[in-house]
Amino acid sequence: MLIMKFGGSILGGSRDLESVADYLMEAGGSERIVAVVSALRGVTDHLLRIGSLAAAGDEPAVFRELDSLRSIHLTICDELDLKCRRVRDELGRLEKIAIGLTYIGEITPRLRDLIASMGENLSGSMLSELLEKKGVKSRFLTGGEAGIVTDDSYGEANPLLKATRVYVRSRLLPLLQDTLPVVAGFSGLSQEGRVTTLGRGGSDLTAVLLGSSLGSREVWIWTNVDGLLTADPRIVRDARLIRQISYREAIELAHFGAKRMHPRFLEPAMVTSTPVRIRNFNNRGCRGTLISSREVRSREIVKAVGLRKGVSIITVRGVGMIGRPGTAGRLFSLLGESGLNVLMISQSISESDISIVLEADEAERARGVMEAKLLGPIFREVLLDRGCSVVAAIGSGMRGTPGVAARVFGAVSSRGVNVKMIAQGSSEVNISFVVDEADGEEAVRAIHDEFELGREEES
Ligand code: ASP
Ligand code: MG
Repeated sequence: MLIMKFGGSILGGSRDLESVADYLMEAGGSERIVAVVSALRGVTDHLLRIGSLAAAGDEPAVFRELDSLRSIHLTICDELDLKCRRVRDELGRLEKIAIGLTYIGEITPRLRDLIASMGENLSGSMLSELLEKKGVKSRFLTGGEAGIVTDDSYGEANPLLKATRVYVRSRLLPLLQDTLPVVAGFSGLSQEGRVTTLGRGGSDLTAVLLGSSLGSREVWIWTNVDGLLTADPRIVRDARLIRQISYREAIELAHFGAKRMHPRFLEPAMVTSTPVRIRNFNNRGCRGTLISSREVRSREIVKAVGLRKGVSIITVRGVGMIGRPGTAGRLFSLLGESGLNVLMISQSISESDISIVLEADEAERARGVMEAKLLGPIFREVLLDRGCSVVAAIGSGMRGTPGVAARVFGAVSSRGVNVKMIAQGSSEVNISFVVDEADGEEAVRAIHDEFELGREEES
């Protein structure tokens, strides 16, 4: 059995749905398949906009957006000659909710999730109807109907793995005897039975949840790039496709890759060792990147180099911090309570300063919060260094291999790039450091060259 997830990047219009349906028919001839779909390209953004406009009470704009969403979907129904009853019902429901919100002038996280989840219901029910029209027995299911149970952290809901496994098996296994299920990605149901969403890019997580619950052979994530690359090809000319990578390495890469990945989508796969393959629907001859528990320790010590632009470093200083337990705790609790996400942390043994890295706009906010709530006899100064980039060398072959850091920083310094801050977790899968934004791309090229990542992998 295979789970196949089709991303929004490859679902633009009726032609795309047609080729996905044809492909599923062909593949389904020899193996049982569960299809998972994202919303059509751009539709989730559209839905979220409708929610915000409605909350702002902007009725004309809400109607304009609703019209355009309606026409995107109904055009496809026409072109494919589908009845699309479910699509019409769903659009009607959306309109009622949106108008209601416009009157109330307010939106809650729960309602935002309800609206955001609709994109997948629209695309999924169309695909399922198209399959039926082509003579394949199919059924559309929402995430909740497929058995995905989550907590109630609306907008970023966490799947409850044990319950999900039980429900998914009981809902899908009987169906799979003679039916090709099409499941809406991105959504689930809370234990109270409310619709939740799994966070942006969450359809990948849906696919992995189903695969790991059902014990599928692999989970295929169909997208519009060949897979994970050794670096961004816009920066490094000889960037190359990575054919095999471990879960842990892929998770590190998730922050950087060209394919936007949900940060936690591999978690359920790791539990059951379900292999996940990223594949290009527009280049089906390519086998893509296989993500599995296998750690391939070929000659590659470093597997990939990532770059994240638009970050700032904040450094808090004070000799009063030295030898005083709880200082780091205070700092990070404050950031956590303020909803600020820290990307990197570094403190030297002298303990007189702690540096953290945040997204540029979050760093501005963090400085404000820290100045207001932290400065005093212990924390003396808050310094902000803007315009930085994080560079990360990733690969589990670094673990226990001496000299990797020396090579990384040697390569970077030989190009005249200054390193401002360094962090390496003791897992040694990743060495991250911060440079001036202007130097970021050169640093990536330096490491890519040093470890010869452009050379074809031995297989
Ligand atoms: N449609 C959702 C999003 O745009 C989920 C997904 O595509 O994976 O984030
Ligand atoms: Mg998507």
